[in-house]
Amino acid sequence: MALPKRRHSRARGRKRRSHDALTKPQATACPSCGEPKLPHRMCSHCGTYNGREIVAEEKQEKEKKERGKTSRKSPLGKSRLGWKR
Ligand SMILES: [Zn+2]
Repeated sequence: MALPKRRHSRARGRKRRSHDALTKPQATACPSCGEPKLPHRMCSHCGTYNGREIVAEEKQEKEKKERGKTSRKSPLGKSRLGWKR
């Protein structure tokens, strides 16, 4: 296995690590609730983006999908679910 001939100087290691610093994520205040949020992302606090509510719409879509799945799986549908619960 190849081995290094000489150890690197402290300066050489420090120069390499000069690019390793992490930057803070750029947070801006949400225009609707004022909580800090990431740019180009939905607000995680109030669920709005560009003045529109995003989270509520997603929930409605999920519910529609779930309803479709249950009807596909069993022909009995809701009655069978009621028996399970
Ligand atoms: Zn918000």
